[in-house]
Amino acid sequence: MPATIIIGAGVIGATTAYFLAREGLSVTVLDSQPEPGMQTSFANGGLLAANSALPWSSPGTPLQMLKWLGREDAPLLLRPSAIPSLGSWGLRFLANCRDSKYRDTANTLTRFGQHSLGLMNTLLTRDSLNFDLGRGGFLEIFKGPGARASAESFAALLERMGARVRRLDRLACVTLEPSLLPIESSIEVGLWLENDCWGDAHLFTREIARVAADQGVRFEYGSEVTGLEVRNGKITGVKLAHGRIEAERVIVCGGAASPALLAPCGVKISVAPVKGYSLTLNRDEVGVAPTRPIVDDHEHICVTPLGDRLRVAGTVEFAGNDRTLRASRVANLKQALRNLYPQISLPAEVNAWCGMRPMTVDGLPYIDATPIENLFVNTGHGALGWTLACASAERVTQLVTGTYAPHVGAFKLNRRLI
Ligand SMILES: Cc1cc2nc3c(=O)[nH]c(=O)nc-3n(C[C@H](O)[C@H](O)[C@H](O)COP(=O)(O)OP(=O)(O)OC[C@H]3O[C@@H](n4cnc5c(N)ncnc54)[C@H](O)[C@@H]3O)c2cc1C
Repeated sequence: MPATIIIGAGVIGATTAYFLAREGLSVTVLDSQPEPGMQTSFANGGLLAANSALPWSSPGTPLQMLKWLGREDAPLLLRPSAIPSLGSWGLRFLANCRDSKYRDTANTLTRFGQHSLGLMNTLLTRDSLNFDLGRGGFLEIFKGPGARASAESFAALLERMGARVRRLDRLACVTLEPSLLPIESSIEVGLWLENDCWGDAHLFTREIARVAADQGVRFEYGSEVTGLEVRNGKITGVKLAHGRIEAERVIVCGGAASPALLAPCGVKISVAPVKGYSLTLNRDEVGVAPTRPIVDDHEHICVTPLGDRLRVAGTVEFAGNDRTLRASRVANLKQALRNLYPQISLPAEVNAWCGMRPMTVDGLPYIDATPIENLFVNTGHGALGWTLACASAERVTQLVTGTYAPHVGAFKLNRRLI
């Protein structure tokens, strides 16, 4: 009996498998990697940024890109060599940076994120998952000239979208987070997003795959999908390096690899790979122990406590499909970390990683049916895949089971595939 095939066991595919299995569907997940969550979901920033799920296509982004064009030390680096490969994606990304569009998308994503966190909380009351979950919100700090004004307009934007934001002066920041004492004088203001959470996305992916497997989902690792099989406008199976598998339906959750999987059967999605870096450190070894994630608006990094580890994430690099872990970018991240925590003692060798965010032109993921019967997509979550995983899995499950009601809730993510 052919099953529903999910391509990809990242945080999106594994969570989708869990939601589908709960509806009683027979599901098989295929991934070329040996385990779940080995690509972009492996070592991300860990933020469940439900109350500040913002698109990158913001009014300030084009100027920043221009200012930092080709600069190796820039937090947002557009490599000139990557410009041709961005093509129409780049132009459409820029078109989405206008203020009204940004606010509209921010509202949709944030409300979707809040819903997603609610779903995760419900899920955790039912199933026990161990992934270094932390609660109690992030502290975002603002430094330098103009910090107060930009923090205030940011806080007001978030509040309009239902976020709970506490404004903290510098004393309140270091009282909440004593690890920041050495840089107290440079902090202008802090925003405490009290309701947000954090955790290890890779552990979550493994755990949710384990629970899904207990519910009957089959996971086949080391299975590279080489193509989709379509007959008479209907998906019939997937092609593997060695053979094929018959499918009742297919859901593509392939992260940054999704466009290449879909294109040969005429389904085009605008998703570009955008590289980001992280460091994972032993908290005791480096001597810095924040109790909650610190987001440094000036350094463009977040530092997230994950059990006895610290995850430092940041940097945006448009470099096409080049997955090279560049020493210069790792050095930038280390320097940004030292600027935030001058007291830190960094080991000579750090555990560095890079991953490709699957980025759409407007920041909204593709969670949709396609013109091909029984072929669905759940991808393009950019910098928010961990935050949006549960709501996205619920949405695609509703589409598959025919229970999606477009007029319930404020999440109009569906759109025509182009
Ligand atoms: C530095 C960095 C920091 C981040 N921080 C955060 C954060 O704090 N909060 C947040 O919410 N998000 C964050 N993100 C974004 C988040 O990590 C991604 O949105 C998310 O991991 C995407 O998940 P995915 O399942 O779509 O993709 P992936 O995790 O890449 O999974 C796709 C899977 O599909 C498989 N696959 C692809 N093609 C094939 C094929 N042909 N055959 C078989 N298998 C295939 C791959 O092997 C892979 O396992 C960050 C990302 C980066 C890079």
